[in-house]
Amino acid sequence: MRFQAPRGTFDILPNEEDTWNQVQHACFETARLFGYRYIETPIFEESGLFERTVGEDTDIVEKEMYSFEDKGGENISLRPENTAGVCRAFIENGLHNTTLPSRLFYYGPMFRYERPQSGRYRQFHQFGIECIGDESPDVDYEVIKIAWDILNTLNFSNVILNINSLGDSQDRFLYTEELKKYFSKYLNDLPKVDQLRFERSPLRILDSKEEVTIKISEEAPKTLDFISSESLIHHENLIQNLEQLSSIDEKFQYKINNRLVRGLDYYNKTVFEYTSDSSGPQGVLLGGGRYDPLIKILGGQDTPAVGFAMGIERAVNELKKNIDIEKNYVDAVLIVTDEDLRIQSTQIANSLRSHQIKTIIAPRKSIKAQMRFANNINSKSAVFIGKSELEDNKLSIKLLQKKSEQIDIAMDDLNQLNKILNS
Ligand code: ATP
Ligand code: MG
Repeated sequence: MRFQAPRGTFDILPNEEDTWNQVQHACFETARLFGYRYIETPIFEESGLFERTVGEDTDIVEKEMYSFEDKGGENISLRPENTAGVCRAFIENGLHNTTLPSRLFYYGPMFRYERPQSGRYRQFHQFGIECIGDESPDVDYEVIKIAWDILNTLNFSNVILNINSLGDSQDRFLYTEELKKYFSKYLNDLPKVDQLRFERSPLRILDSKEEVTIKISEEAPKTLDFISSESLIHHENLIQNLEQLSSIDEKFQYKINNRLVRGLDYYNKTVFEYTSDSSGPQGVLLGGGRYDPLIKILGGQDTPAVGFAMGIERAVNELKKNIDIEKNYVDAVLIVTDEDLRIQSTQIANSLRSHQIKTIIAPRKSIKAQMRFANNINSKSAVFIGKSELEDNKLSIKLLQKKSEQIDIAMDDLNQLNKILNS
């Protein structure tokens, strides 16, 4: 019986570690530059938390949650996203009594029972930002800029910001009525999933992935024509900032996307996504928006907030397109030319490691096989350990990346060796 990773999950292998670290590092360091701080919440929460916040009629709550009753009879769900958890933590730990806004970032695995495909998994990772306690469009711009800086640090080209405003809940009521009128004309043409959405939550039709629906939606009424003057001023202020950014950074591009509504219930005013030129789900790198009502819904004080969540796998996949060779992960392989010298070799290996030289001792095999091992793992060098080397207190080294150039280094000059290998 051979086991496989569950459908929609995958292993992160050693040769991918660098890429994952690169993405995580870009996210964390950019967030810190903007004064954001790390928060971590549990991977599972009471199911009710997500039902109340993400929304009962959303794809996530309707069909994507990993929910179960635990041994104590509690209804538990693996978190499908982290905004609800962060807001729960904000209230529970009294963060509203600290200086606001709270600038927070998180990173970790999320779980959704989805149909696996490129860029869509059942366990995936998100990095996210939440700025809680400031209602001004300045912080909408701030989080959008953080996302832009991360994508820029990772050297993504052809990224576009899609932006829209949903207005407040009252605006949305009027808009939804109009939307219903519009879609009722096409009801028979809509696929079944979207006919159901028409009944339960018409706004979500605009978030449909069905091609027919996307086509029909092109002429649908626009949220921006229905939002209150307050929401419109908020939106225009943000757009001014984006215009300013495009004027100083020629790579930055944005477009107002009237169909962008996002898949969660808690958004109001600003919603946005950054997309790459990859097709399908993989193309949506991150999404976010303002969620002013959420903290109050959870029983906290009325506290406006804005944030985004980025799919780490999608960023990693984009980066992988540009990477084909595996980097050297070992600086030195010790080739033991005389089996009696195994014990001495372990001491030499430790000396090298204490000089930050990443070292492996070749397996007990012929010298030729040891050399093959060093080449196969792409080591930067082969270090020969033989009687004469030990007598002279030196190392005889082949630089495998530099046309096998041969050098000798004195045992007490290992700093020099580190410099040569890492130059
Ligand atoms: P989609 O439209 O692709 O279903 P979504 O609206 O469900 O996305 P969000 O809940 O906003 O996505 O999540 C934010 C980001 O997390 C997405 O932009 C994407 O990069 C990533 N993401 C969401 N679901 C998955 C998944 N199943 N696998 C991998 N990444 C995901
Ligand atoms: Mg989704």
